[in-house]
Amino acid sequence: MSTFQELPAASSNAWSNEELMSAVQAYLGMLRFELKGEYYNKAEINRQLRDGPLTCRTKASVEFRMQNISAALYELKMPYIVGYLPARNIGSAVKEKMVGLLRQNDIEFLMPYVPTADTDALSAKVSSLRKQTYLKMPPGSKHPQLAIKTMSSYLRDPAVKAWVLEAAKGVCEGCDRPAPFIGNDGLPYLEVHHVMPLASHGSDTPTNAVALCPNCHRRCHYSNDSDEFKLRLYEKIERLRLEVPEPIDAGTYESIDANLT
Ligand SMILES: [Zn+2]
Ligand SMILES: [Zn+2]
Repeated sequence: MSTFQELPAASSNAWSNEELMSAVQAYLGMLRFELKGEYYNKAEINRQLRDGPLTCRTKASVEFRMQNISAALYELKMPYIVGYLPARNIGSAVKEKMVGLLRQNDIEFLMPYVPTADTDALSAKVSSLRKQTYLKMPPGSKHPQLAIKTMSSYLRDPAVKAWVLEAAKGVCEGCDRPAPFIGNDGLPYLEVHHVMPLASHGSDTPTNAVALCPNCHRRCHYSNDSDEFKLRLYEKIERLRLEVPEPIDAGTYESIDANLT
């Protein structure tokens, strides 16, 4: 008789908000351990819940709630506890309810894991994940979602780019080393960088453009000494003229992955 009642039957009475919230909070606690690579005991936490706030629930129904929470996290593109596979057959109402309860908790620690199409946001997330003490090999996504980005780009003068590249004669104007390889056009591969970014209203002229090897180019965009590096370029390359920056155009930013400028 009692074993029959313990089955997570459809007739079992609905969970209260308080009950659901205690499951969500226990889940998030376990997820924190999981992401830190620390040990925790799922069965023990399940038992503690049933000794406490979920006193009239069965082990299996608590497990099923945990899988509901995994499904909600999956929906949010956030990591979930691998041992609780997202429940597949839950209705959108339940999922929404779980998402709502998750959002009432501190889930900021999950934000770095959420995929993004924004290059700058991606870099920030990657940096914050790399600074964590533990990173387990993630499952990733077999079919990453395609995001349509609206991007503004400046019209670039091919003659300026060609002239700057030819003037460099196959040698990086940053480090004076030869181009690292021959490009698929048969010419030494260097990249043209605008010392005052176009987005800051820098000009597209030979006096604001330099030919750099990929390492020096990335250094201009991403290094912690990019300002000093830029000053050295101004000192070193006679044709460069200092330009006054203006506020960056809204919606445009220079990202080396998006457009090598
Ligand atoms: Zn270089
Ligand atoms: Zn650049």
